[in-house]
Amino acid sequence: MANNTVTMDKLVALCKARGIVFPGSEIYGGMGNTWDYGPVGVEIKNNIKRAWWKRFVTESDNSYGVDAAILMNSRVWEASGHTTSFSDPKMDCKHCKTRHRADNLIEAHSKGTVNPDTMSDEEMQNYISEHHVCCPVCGNFDWTPIRTFNLMFETSRGVTDESQNKIYLRPETAQGEFVNFLNVQRTTRAKVPFGIAQIGKAFRNEITPGNFIFRTIEFEQMEHQWFCKEGTDGDYYKEFKQKAFDFLTDLGFKAEHLRFHDHDKLAHYAKEACDIQYLYPMGWQELNGIHNRTDYDLSRHQEYSGKTLTYVDPVNGEKFIPYVIEYSIGADRLMLAVLSEAYDEETLENGETRTVMHFHPAIAAYKAAILPLQKNLAPQAKELWGRLRKFFSVTYDEAGSIGKRYRRQDEIGTPYCVTVDFDSLENATYTVRDRDSMEQVRLTEGEIVAFLTKNCAF
Ligand code: ATP
Repeated sequence: MANNTVTMDKLVALCKARGIVFPGSEIYGGMGNTWDYGPVGVEIKNNIKRAWWKRFVTESDNSYGVDAAILMNSRVWEASGHTTSFSDPKMDCKHCKTRHRADNLIEAHSKGTVNPDTMSDEEMQNYISEHHVCCPVCGNFDWTPIRTFNLMFETSRGVTDESQNKIYLRPETAQGEFVNFLNVQRTTRAKVPFGIAQIGKAFRNEITPGNFIFRTIEFEQMEHQWFCKEGTDGDYYKEFKQKAFDFLTDLGFKAEHLRFHDHDKLAHYAKEACDIQYLYPMGWQELNGIHNRTDYDLSRHQEYSGKTLTYVDPVNGEKFIPYVIEYSIGADRLMLAVLSEAYDEETLENGETRTVMHFHPAIAAYKAAILPLQKNLAPQAKELWGRLRKFFSVTYDEAGSIGKRYRRQDEIGTPYCVTVDFDSLENATYTVRDRDSMEQVRLTEGEIVAFLTKNCAF
């Protein structure tokens, strides 16, 4: 398993060839930092989101889901601080007219030995001058001064100029959970501590190169906000660090491909913050964040909305604004990590190489592929496919030799191949091949249902 063999080029090529991810607007020459999920990719991504939701909402004792609007009242972004401080330090190369993040330039130049997170804009500017950090595109040293660049996408509502009103595409899903704190608490009768989770699109006008689906301008976040009382926040912060880590190892990530990275420079509202980083093909990078956001969010929304967001303890009548432990992970960034972790090239006994994606079966697009050994067994195979499809996501393939069909399924990570052969007509059993071990067993239809139910659960 992952992964010395995987490179970003190999992943991008496999994703394109097998219908996992395509470049956005491809027939028009593409559009930077946008990608479209294909027939196989959309299934994988949905399964990732489903596994996350199951772990953090369905199977969680006191967590509730919401699906808030992407477009929110602009006051939300004033309260959250995004209109004033959600920005990157950017510099333009005057020679080739490309735009770069000063912190990224320093990180790349110092090969990760200097941490720009702790530097002010002036310190970054000085570093770039003193070390003569050149433009990575054209190699010249001809920079504008650092300017801050707000990452929020703006749009406007209203049909006439007079009624135009600036609004934003949300840069994070978290605010949808905060503004619904009272609604959720009231309708579920939840007592603090409790959680609100959401999966949804977020948008950021990112200027740095994307590394495939790692950093895109439109992406999905899976966020869980845990509302708790001050004083208990430290323990919950630790608990969520562990839960976030366990979720990843349960999905099949090797622990040595993951590490915690504590933030040196904390956002003004944060008490503690860390990332879990994954060893991506391009190196260690943030996969998700865990933040102790104190009572900042609810206090700010209380101040800006004029609505009381104070929680009243039903037992002792104590009033307080809850602290928030946030766990936030990008579905697309997790998808890239899942793809990298699963990718493998194996040399077989006959000397051939097979590319195989060792996904957790719950994440695989299809739990099984039904393959008639020969075309004249197609009617029986299709009947079996029709029956199994009621329970699982199952695909069907009759094109080409059985060996070629196995390879195609290996490349998209289908955990089991079910072959219908002439014996199947005699004794109603089928050959079930395991993707990873390539071993085969003979099972009846009822046994296949039980086998897939057990092996594909998360
Ligand atoms: P980075 O430092 O990589 O820009 P961030 O610290 O700004 O990330 P957060 O604001 O904490 O990220 O967002 C939470 C999560 O959302 C990240 O851990 C990541 O998984 C995901 N995410 C953030 N920005 C992007 C993006 N542009 N494309 C894809 N996923 C993203």
